[in-house]
Amino acid sequence: MEHVQVLIAGAGIAGISAAIWCRRLGLQAILIEQEPHIGGQLKTIKNTIWDFPPHLYANGLELLDELNQHQVLGELDIRLSERLISIDPVSHLVQTDKTLYQADYLIAATGVRANTLTVLEGASFVLAPWFSTTSQGELLAGRRVLVVGGGDRAVESAYNISPYAEHIWLAVRGDKLRARPEWVERLDTVPNVTVLYETEVTGYIEEDQLRTAVQLLESASEQCAGETALSDDQAAPSNDHAALSANAPSSHSGVSSLLPDPQATQTGVFLEIKGQQMPLFLPVDRVMPRIGIRGNSDVMEQLKQYGEGFIQSDEYQATSCGWIYAIGDLTNGSVYASLSLASGQAMKAVKHISLQLNK
Ligand SMILES: Cc1cc2nc3c(=O)[nH]c(=O)nc-3n(C[C@H](O)[C@H](O)[C@H](O)COP(=O)(O)OP(=O)(O)OC[C@H]3O[C@@H](n4cnc5c(N)ncnc54)[C@H](O)[C@@H]3O)c2cc1C
Repeated sequence: MEHVQVLIAGAGIAGISAAIWCRRLGLQAILIEQEPHIGGQLKTIKNTIWDFPPHLYANGLELLDELNQHQVLGELDIRLSERLISIDPVSHLVQTDKTLYQADYLIAATGVRANTLTVLEGASFVLAPWFSTTSQGELLAGRRVLVVGGGDRAVESAYNISPYAEHIWLAVRGDKLRARPEWVERLDTVPNVTVLYETEVTGYIEEDQLRTAVQLLESASEQCAGETALSDDQAAPSNDHAALSANAPSSHSGVSSLLPDPQATQTGVFLEIKGQQMPLFLPVDRVMPRIGIRGNSDVMEQLKQYGEGFIQSDEYQATSCGWIYAIGDLTNGSVYASLSLASGQAMKAVKHISLQLNK
């Protein structure tokens, strides 16, 4: 077991800033990071960063490069590929996948992750959560895109890609958009977006699977022609969705209701739309889930939380457990997620800790 004054978990901008402030205030600190590199979300920022003064960075990697050259960085105790796995709020024991720490203070800076659509797991046409619609929209030129979600990020994404994509469908679970009115108004001005309310994505099919399904269909119908007629169940392809949509009802807001066309091999998703008896097939080239983010707080269930796994903290970043502090996106949620706030909170947390230690 190793004793440490301040253990910092997560080496995004928040955790790195905290480690630098510990150095400045003379606190002994260890910074652990689950990945083999520092930076957290910085690696995923493709847009220009102009709101983290005084520099203007072309993207997050440029900022990370500069950070890696920071003179003090080499003097910090940074332990890569080490993951926080449990915290004992009473004994101050912190377990990682490498060792056990006795920490006077813990600063949690583990950030957030994007919510994913489990029904699309394994689909290769789903865009990564960090796909940037401002700087990478051109990659969707001529594509049919399904954006999933009804909040700011979903509506903003649909709007940003509208100059490039052939058509965009926005699948919204509720009966209205939750995005800010200004974004909804902007979306109303673009001709190639169809909003599908009360709609859920229930499955997908990719070209290869489709070919298999079609082959099965063909061999089943050939058999059918030569023998006595098969029952519907026997004739159906192994994929339930394909079987279902064979009998699907007529079109809905531009959504094809037909079985994926076996001649024009298609990739697409199945949608359940309120009021429609059968799932509908929507041929799309790309799917962009924009269904929010959640705090990386799985091992912090003992701390007070709000929303989707965000840690509640007070004006000094202290959590409901006095010796544990939370900084950065983990405590800010999506609305206030920013580099400047994350780095500012690091200063406040470390200063507060140093004042407690020097009492
Ligand atoms: C596409 C995009 C564009 C953005 N553009 C801007 C912008 O222009 N300006 C701006 O101000 N902000 C921007 N942001 C927001 C900004 O990037 C974030 O607010 C900021 O990076 C959050 O930093 P963080 O340190 O709190 O979290 P993160 O960067 O998420 O870092 C958390 C770290 O904790 C690690 N971790 C997680 N769990 C564990 C564990 N159990 N054990 C150990 N380590 C763990 C993670 O691997 C990660 O490295 C953007 C974000 C995105 C996604």
